[in-house]
Amino acid sequence: MDHFAYVDGTLCAENVPLPEIARSVGTPFYVYSTATLRRHFDVFAEGFAGTDTLIAFAVKSLSNIAVLSLLGKRGAGADIVSGGELFRALKAGIPAERIVFSGVGKTEREIADALDAGIGQFNVEGEAELAVLSRVASEKGMTAPVSFRINPDVDAGTHDKISTGRKGDKFGVPRARTFDAYALAEKLPGIRVQGVAMHIGSQITSLAPFEAAARSAVELVGTLRGMGHDIRTLDLGGGLGIPYGRAAEPPPLPSDYAKLIRSVTDGTDIRVMLEPGRMIVGNAGLFVVSMLYAKDQETRTYAIVDGAMNDLIRPMLYGAHHEIMPVTEKDAAATNYDVAGPVCESTDLFARDVALQDPQPGDLLAFRTAGAYGAVSASQYNTRPLVPEVLVDGDRFHVIRRRPSYEDILSLETIPDLSDH
Ligand SMILES: *Cc1c(COP(=O)(O)O)cnc(C)c1O
Repeated sequence: MDHFAYVDGTLCAENVPLPEIARSVGTPFYVYSTATLRRHFDVFAEGFAGTDTLIAFAVKSLSNIAVLSLLGKRGAGADIVSGGELFRALKAGIPAERIVFSGVGKTEREIADALDAGIGQFNVEGEAELAVLSRVASEKGMTAPVSFRINPDVDAGTHDKISTGRKGDKFGVPRARTFDAYALAEKLPGIRVQGVAMHIGSQITSLAPFEAAARSAVELVGTLRGMGHDIRTLDLGGGLGIPYGRAAEPPPLPSDYAKLIRSVTDGTDIRVMLEPGRMIVGNAGLFVVSMLYAKDQETRTYAIVDGAMNDLIRPMLYGAHHEIMPVTEKDAAATNYDVAGPVCESTDLFARDVALQDPQPGDLLAFRTAGAYGAVSASQYNTRPLVPEVLVDGDRFHVIRRRPSYEDILSLETIPDLSDH
């Protein structure tokens, strides 16, 4: 469900025709729908109504502060993985107690900043990190609220590059060392043990791995409590998949996911924490490009567009599929094009055999389901400025990240006075 639809043959974001945005900000750009963002968050939150739940939005999936602010106002917390994301979440007005710090490589500086901010939970991924957290917190005379991220050894059945909960993956504390880790944490100064955390991967399209992980987590909570640990929070991470248009199997509904989690955690007397990212923002965004040239390469015909792998890398990184739609519908026969960007890499190819109706230079094309892990992983490779982000709200739109000028880009660089050899 989203709020992008054709009106009189023109694709609109809510009530705004996309060509209007293109005229104003140029292409390529990302556009998000507030109505879709709100709806996705609310549907998910309603699934947990009446229970003690924190929905900590995974900031890394779409980290623009306008989006964080919108979700924060609806009650969302933030799952962060860096000091930069901490800074964003706080700037966006998300209360510190609703911030959870995940990630395998937290630096001392990031840990100190998060302690100073007073965040709600550190999801600690290993004993060495625990020792640093203990030392930094003690030096400050503070106590860090800690949950261990446990690697449950569950195969989420998703793409190898986004699977995180199997034995041997770099994430979490191995299941076999769990009890030793908790025992160690109880002994260290500056640490208060409060929870158990898991996150098994992303774009997971069946409920079974979630059920396996949640059951194993609930069992672990019981065992840890039996050993005298005061476990009050259970963080089940994110990872719920969304339809990308060509999925063989439609992913579970957020309401069914919520029902499953509730059925497994019911009666545990615990605060359940969830860290959805993709599920909230994926379908709330489009990536819009302009057609530059049709290029006949004898065995293949290319549509060269002005967006590239530096702007949207998911197809190149994960073989991800994004449906590509014309912004203005035409009455012409469709032929197949390989859609590629201008970057000087053969891998800068979005999709093969996309049926397009007589694409002409200047025609706009929209990539669906580009809200999650799109703009956030953009780079300036080939000195292509970061893509602007636009947020539509009814019949208005706001530029929430402007396109940097070439001057902006070079302002970070200097030419030093080098010795002459
Ligand atoms: C990436 C990540 C998430 C969000 O995953 P989605 O698939 O976008 O829901 C949640 N928690 C942690 C720890 C993550 O690394």
